[in-house]
Amino acid sequence: MQPWPRESSQSATEELSRRRQFLREHPAPFSAFLTDSFGRPHSYLRISLTEKCNLRCQYCMPEEGVPLTPKADLLTTEEILTLARLFVKEGVDKIRLTGGEPLIRPDVVDIVAQLHQLEGLKTIGVTTNGINLARLLPQLQKAGLGAINISLDTLVPAKFEFIVRRKGDQMWLTMESVPHRPCSWKLWLTLGKKAWFLFLSVSGP
Ligand code: SF4
Repeated sequence: MQPWPRESSQSATEELSRRRQFLREHPAPFSAFLTDSFGRPHSYLRISLTEKCNLRCQYCMPEEGVPLTPKADLLTTEEILTLARLFVKEGVDKIRLTGGEPLIRPDVVDIVAQLHQLEGLKTIGVTTNGINLARLLPQLQKAGLGAINISLDTLVPAKFEFIVRRKGDQMWLTMESVPHRPCSWKLWLTLGKKAWFLFLSVSGP
């Protein structure tokens, strides 16, 4: 039986009051700001570095791209680092860089290097389509990148070409150098809807 509206609003108020009581009795471990109303701490931050991309996936954007936000409305590098610093101070220990395609941002290596300096930040990750990864991998590794998630829709070049509207052989750029380099990274390949953990090597850069 559906509760009457008044009963429903009363139980919502009681629930809110129970949650507040819970939070009073279980103070946030690191930051009230990053603790939600269920008492769960959130220590993971995702930062989008750009809305641009070097692919044109059918399900994401039209072939001609999307209207871009004026540069003045986007976060500058210094603003990104300031925000990251504030969140890390509040208890965030993992930051993932996303996009669009984050590896087309010209200063991405510098951003990773500066994030790496933040005391308390344990992991810097990136989610990428992998096209620029082979070229940037050594620099990113040196700068302190610790986790990579590669999104790839297919391992069939013809399907790749159809889905992303780019030459099918670019697909192999994605995987070109990653598996051959010893590092201490976590590397995930998201192939279509499935995610595979590829390797976790124990040797350092
Ligand atoms: S790689 Fe990602 S951001 Fe780029 S077009 Fe495809 S889905 Fe969109």
